[in-house]
Amino acid sequence: MKITEHLKNAKKTVFSFEILPPLKGQSLNELMEGISPLMEFNPPFVDVTYHREEFIYKKHPNGLLEKVSTKKRPGTVGICAAIMNRFQVDAVPHLLCGGFTKEETENALIDLNFIGVDNVLALRGDAPKTEGRFEPEKDGHHFASELVEQIIRMNNGKYLHEETETSFHTDFCVGVAGYPEKHFEAPSLKFDLNYLKDKIDKGAEYIVTQMFFDNQKFFEFEQKVREAGINVPIIPGLKPITTLGQITMLPRTFFLDLPDALTDELIKCKTNAEVKEVGIAWAIEQSKELIAAGVPSLHFYTMSKADATYKIAKEVF
Ligand SMILES: Cc1cc2nc3c(=O)[nH]c(=O)nc-3n(C[C@H](O)[C@H](O)[C@H](O)COP(=O)(O)OP(=O)(O)OC[C@H]3O[C@@H](n4cnc5c(N)ncnc54)[C@H](O)[C@@H]3O)c2cc1C
Repeated sequence: MKITEHLKNAKKTVFSFEILPPLKGQSLNELMEGISPLMEFNPPFVDVTYHREEFIYKKHPNGLLEKVSTKKRPGTVGICAAIMNRFQVDAVPHLLCGGFTKEETENALIDLNFIGVDNVLALRGDAPKTEGRFEPEKDGHHFASELVEQIIRMNNGKYLHEETETSFHTDFCVGVAGYPEKHFEAPSLKFDLNYLKDKIDKGAEYIVTQMFFDNQKFFEFEQKVREAGINVPIIPGLKPITTLGQITMLPRTFFLDLPDALTDELIKCKTNAEVKEVGIAWAIEQSKELIAAGVPSLHFYTMSKADATYKIAKEVF
């Protein structure tokens, strides 16, 4: 079922969450067992991230270094199939521009359709860690809006090579990313919102936000999105802080601020266990306020560690 239908049918804010595929070489069992308790809160959908290739340097016996491309977390499509099969919930794969030609995108979408996926989150992706800036594949998409366009064209029965005869068309519901604290490359929030609107105008039907820790920033973002003429559901993304390292890693990686009231509590913590308690309590307060404000879903970034999200959901759902 489409995310938009799930949200429309829901009488109240629904619980949803995102997981990462396990590192290559690990089995899926631990992840599946880990998220199993979260099914108690009836998530209508679970997002599965996509991880593009990274470059590593292999040292040869003669001392020369070879640049090798590898995917550390493959398996997004397989995990989607496994989740739908085991838990009877919708799985939402993330689909990137980066690393894909248009032809590969088309083929990936056909696979997703064949396994029964009804929704995709269309994203540009970032540059591989060792590269400075995002570069599309030759004949790939530069921005998420172009990927949205391709998916919608397929929904209208238009494949890349117009000669493909089709009596069948896909019917994906497309979500896109939004940034309450603006995307790091955008010169201003207004600039970023113009392109968020572009993604919606091209056919995306809902927005999932980057994580944020200050609800006021979300509410201001939501108001500006509405003022920009965007009327689709906006799903806030939440992440409980669980380790000391995340206090600096999250702002560095995701270009966001932690509010003073939160950092004041976090810096008093001596252990990860203490940090986790503070992080969970903060996320519970955030969740309660967002639910009271009537958000359609709370979407948790679990980083595939479900226990903190379980404690929050137990309090608020
Ligand atoms: C909910 C969520 C889930 C995510 N999941 C993943 C994942 O699974 N895997 C992963 O690798 N990454 C993921 N990301 C990270 C995402 O790929 C990066 O943030 C990426 O840098 C931007 O992706 P986007 O889809 O927002 O890009 P876009 O919407 O394409 O925007 C990228 C930048 O370009 C600007 N822009 C857009 N269109 C134009 C235009 N026509 N001309 C000029 N400028 C333009 C925008 O303002 C923005 O600054 C996720 C992010 C979010 C919020």
